[in-house]
Amino acid sequence: MSIFNKVLEIYKDQNICLDCLGRMFSLLGTHSTNEERGKSLLLSLTMENHQKYLIGEESIRNKAIENLKLLANKAKYIPAKEVLKKEGFEPLLLNEDINCFLCNNIFRNLDDYVEIAKKNLEKIEYSNFLIGTSPSGKIINREDKFKAKHNIIEAESFKTHMNREIGKKLVNDIGKPTEFTYPDLTIIYSIRFDKSSTSLIIRSLFIFGRYKKLIRGIPQTRWFCRKCNGNGCESCEFTGKQYETSVEGLISPEFINASQAESSKFHGAGREDIDVRMLGTGRPFILELRNPKIRTLDLDNLLEKVNMTNKDKIEINQLSYTNKKQVIFIKENAENTKKTYKAIAESSSELNIEEFQERFIKLINTFENKNIDQRTPHRVAHRRADKIRDKKLFKVEGKFLKPNLFEFIIESQGGTYIKELISGDEGRTSPSFSEILEVQLKCIELDVLNIDY
Ligand SMILES: [Zn+2]
Ligand SMILES: [Zn+2]
Repeated sequence: MSIFNKVLEIYKDQNICLDCLGRMFSLLGTHSTNEERGKSLLLSLTMENHQKYLIGEESIRNKAIENLKLLANKAKYIPAKEVLKKEGFEPLLLNEDINCFLCNNIFRNLDDYVEIAKKNLEKIEYSNFLIGTSPSGKIINREDKFKAKHNIIEAESFKTHMNREIGKKLVNDIGKPTEFTYPDLTIIYSIRFDKSSTSLIIRSLFIFGRYKKLIRGIPQTRWFCRKCNGNGCESCEFTGKQYETSVEGLISPEFINASQAESSKFHGAGREDIDVRMLGTGRPFILELRNPKIRTLDLDNLLEKVNMTNKDKIEINQLSYTNKKQVIFIKENAENTKKTYKAIAESSSELNIEEFQERFIKLINTFENKNIDQRTPHRVAHRRADKIRDKKLFKVEGKFLKPNLFEFIIESQGGTYIKELISGDEGRTSPSFSEILEVQLKCIELDVLNIDY
């Protein structure tokens, strides 16, 4: 069936708008909008039938008038109506208020949707956006049946048409481009024939930095109270927190405030124990700010504020903007980075300095550039899978402080359990410092001195 006959068949069946008419043949012809396609089809049809009326035989003339009436009444096409008038025919006046069968005239009123979007975007900082349309099942089913009935195979979907047309209008109106991969904002229209709604997704803002933890006793992230799970109870003095504060809790409020974010999430490149300090150049972290209304932050000023408020507790440095991919990267990479620790260990029995030095040579031979097997420590077994991890040690230095007190500098692969490397964890880590020095050691102080990143 020719395109023209198909158009006539469509209008014998239903009334559809120019956008939807053009949309049904969208894959044919380029550099045109669907509306232009629709108009061209109707104009060509009107011209063809006008000509047939002027030069055709009786039966052809009658058929031509019938077609022109169809175009005038069902497609509400003005030129067809004018041709009929000019040739002395009264076009039938059908109900003028029939909406487009496929879009219910939504495509005729896209400006309303643009206005809704603009309202939603007020007071939000963004440099690009994306439109997402989600038509209801009813809309999609109706269109599928319609296309099948008329054997239409060159159509563009409701969704694609609407996304592009609103996108064009918005770009024009607000002067900001669309972005398909990482849009700052996504405006989602949930379309129903009776009532549509709009929602907004704001892309999280990711800030990279490094933190130093200068005192012991602070966890990296917020810990909910073990008793009440964060609801607040007597044992947590109704704070819901197990610890009064955390590295996250000290850093994030200034950022949430400055970005007007709804919430935040702290992603550390690994973590140190609560009683371990994090020194040197600090541990990499990424702060994810969710639903931020402001994306341009004065990072220098935030750094200064955080460091001033938390003087002698924590310190941040090297702030920069980053992205979601880096969150995965710093987490996965944490296992591969080289870390340097300082440990103070107490021994259950005394060694004199000669004994220590003699046994320490054996310690170096055992551990430097060697791998050890570490079974998941007792103390974390309740939250980590019980398995044996193979970890590499690069360097070990030792210092005799007192007959029962030694200092160790240990350079090892990320994820090595240092406290257990020293104690042996009742045989779960082997070999261990206790094993080689032939005294039972206990790590009483631990600092991370450096993280290679
Ligand atoms: Zn339509
Ligand atoms: Zn509690």
